[in-house]
Amino acid sequence: MPTIVPYTYEKREEKVVYFTSLLKGMKVLIATEKPFAQKAVDGITEILHEAEYEVVRLEKYTDKAALLEAVKDVDTLIIRSDKVTAEVLEASKNLKIVVRAGAGFDNVDCEEAKRRGVVVMNTPGQNSNAVAELALCMMIYISRNCLTPGTGGELQGKTLAIHAYGNVGKLVGRKGKALGMNVIAYDPFITDDAVFEADGVEKVSSVEELYRRADYLSLHIPATPQTKGSIGYDLAMSMPKGATLVNTARKEVIDEAGLMQAMTEREDLRYITDVAPESAAEMAAAFGKRFFATPKKMGAETAEANINAGLAAARQIVDYFKTGDTRFQVNK
Ligand code: NAD
Repeated sequence: MPTIVPYTYEKREEKVVYFTSLLKGMKVLIATEKPFAQKAVDGITEILHEAEYEVVRLEKYTDKAALLEAVKDVDTLIIRSDKVTAEVLEASKNLKIVVRAGAGFDNVDCEEAKRRGVVVMNTPGQNSNAVAELALCMMIYISRNCLTPGTGGELQGKTLAIHAYGNVGKLVGRKGKALGMNVIAYDPFITDDAVFEADGVEKVSSVEELYRRADYLSLHIPATPQTKGSIGYDLAMSMPKGATLVNTARKEVIDEAGLMQAMTEREDLRYITDVAPESAAEMAAAFGKRFFATPKKMGAETAEANINAGLAAARQIVDYFKTGDTRFQVNK
């Protein structure tokens, strides 16, 4: 097998011929600590077999050694939340492309992959609806007293503030509007106001204003060096009385000590999260029903999202080798 031609290769026609010649016999590993639904596996396998690829699976593995062994001779890797570290990349000498079936790709060492000429892709948007539904579900759950007897509150008429208006943020915004919420959003990377206007969502110009006005603050920022630990004491303290912070993004974006300090000083603040914090036990003990964390990351755990993301991953691999399609590459 020749070395892969980098995508920067200028002569497109030659590249297509080259990629096509690589199609047959490609070995694809589906490595999933938390396996795909069977229907997704069947669909992925069908797409890849049609392209005459060989498909192998490593599921429910419990230690890294199994993954290091399995990647040795594969050309392509499909993963979910599985960690693709420098060590994994070093062990997989033939690897050309890794597709993370999902949105966040902080589980892949993208820089190291780039250094080695390995393309990394995600499958944006494929599980967004599942995550958005969970965000709203958790808001209703906590506002109705965690479904225990007692008087709760309603979402209608409240201000839903969306931090990052990407695939998930947009769907949360639209669903919030359908529930009669006043939706505002902040995303410094979306310069076209029409994106917000199309959904009847008010764009705010600073993160401070977003939190100051938020009855429910729904977090959808990715975990990056800039965002990690960026949501803490000051922003939480600036939220209105009785406000709720909703995190279906990543636990790393929260400054847990700062948030705990704010929740200790302000007995009206609530925190609900799909990504159990490091200090989950401490928070549960200290804040009771003002805190809720799913036992495992559940945002994308629907049959629909599972199938959509898996099939998209398989199609993106075939498209990449057939036509050089790198639309979903995240380590360009
Ligand atoms: P996306 O890439 O479509 O959107 C991310 C948005 O964040 C973009 O619009 C971008 O402009 C914005 N952004 C980036 N940095 C920002 C910053 N510093 N401040 C404000 N906005 C910023 O991603 P998505 O599909 O909407 O997913 C969002 C995040 O949700 C993912 O990165 C992932 O961490 C998380 N996620 C969690 C689950 C789950 O199971 N709970 C599932 C899918 C995604």
